[in-house]
Amino acid sequence: MSTTTQNSAALIEQEEKFGAHNYHPLDVVLCRGEGAYVWDVEGKRYLDFLAAYSAVNQGHNHPRIVGALTEQAKVLSLTSRAFRNDKFPPLLEKLSNMTGFEKVLLMNSGAEAVETAIKAMRKYGYDNKGIADGKAEIIVMDGNFHGRTTTIIGFSTDDTTTTGFGPFTPGFHVAEYGNMDALKALINENTCGVLIEPIQGEGGVVIPPKGFLKELRALCDEHKMMLVCDEIQSGLGRTGTLFAFEHEGIRPDGVTIGKALSGGIYPVSAFLATEDFMKVFTPGTHGSTYGGNPLACAVASAALDVLVDEQLIEKSATMGAYMIERVRAIQSPHIKEVRGIGLWAGIELNPSAGGARRFCERLQQEGMLCKETHTHTIRLAPPLVITKEQLDWSIDLLTRVLTDAE
Ligand SMILES: *Cc1c(COP(=O)(O)O)cnc(C)c1O
Repeated sequence: MSTTTQNSAALIEQEEKFGAHNYHPLDVVLCRGEGAYVWDVEGKRYLDFLAAYSAVNQGHNHPRIVGALTEQAKVLSLTSRAFRNDKFPPLLEKLSNMTGFEKVLLMNSGAEAVETAIKAMRKYGYDNKGIADGKAEIIVMDGNFHGRTTTIIGFSTDDTTTTGFGPFTPGFHVAEYGNMDALKALINENTCGVLIEPIQGEGGVVIPPKGFLKELRALCDEHKMMLVCDEIQSGLGRTGTLFAFEHEGIRPDGVTIGKALSGGIYPVSAFLATEDFMKVFTPGTHGSTYGGNPLACAVASAALDVLVDEQLIEKSATMGAYMIERVRAIQSPHIKEVRGIGLWAGIELNPSAGGARRFCERLQQEGMLCKETHTHTIRLAPPLVITKEQLDWSIDLLTRVLTDAE
């Protein structure tokens, strides 16, 4: 058996030798997952507090989603959209009914869903606002994360993601997140839309001031700009509601989802929009070989069913409130601020703490996997299936690690 010869050190060495160094992962080599737990190749068990950036909201290897994958794989996996397939229409209806958006366009990765939204906003501006060809502008937010394509990184404000990869796609303007005056100052007759994470995930679970999204909704109506919320990380239950924008009682014109739409099993993403907005796409104007394939549709359908049937969104709200209350109660000189909503928290550490990574490494040693974001923030985002006992165990550990005199 190869498992007896596998060990972390050898696999890490192999990865370092042959892999591109585009990540700096924790040195833990995982080989199995179930629910909120993952195991490394030495057999050590961990609670997963990243959940693959919220792709695994339903828990690792959920049997129902795995079942949907394996059953569908046996009969039909890919047709391309040149032909129709029987799993695509029911998923469209399910997504539309569940989210209230009339129209659905399926892609694969999150970045592709965002690219789709960008194209839709631009074309809407040309078709409906009389913007001159090639002049459409989109307003985005400081601290954003929308993916890794050349267009998307072009409007990132994180140097690491942009340096050395220009030239960038024009037509984007960056406003300070949560600053309405800064945003207003960027609007002109060529502005076709605003792209925003209702809560910034990679930014470190950053929540805009109360009322900001509501005001933004009104502003977009006033200027006939399409409002698109990127809910790839914040959506599908992470914040205790289906979408994070619900906390402000607004509805955007379009929304991007991905990650948990797959339950972590097979990449699938979507751009959801009102009928009027989605009208911009006509045959040939957009597409993807794998977008809407039957395997993805079967998986996404099961992933959505699990969210609903296991009441994971409600669980996220109640367990999340408990988690954040417990985290806020931690008395540690290292903690600068705790932000959070639902089963999602960002613990921002003081600069004197020496960065979040060493705490993540300590937690790893003790059996809890967290990944630092933006150097100083520990993000907590466990699968939504996590139990109260598992949460208590983890927060006890976190408390110990953050209060240890060092
Ligand atoms: C992860 C993420 C993306 C990109 O998704 P990929 O599947 O990695 O392309 C886009 N937007 C947000 C908010 C994300 O968190």
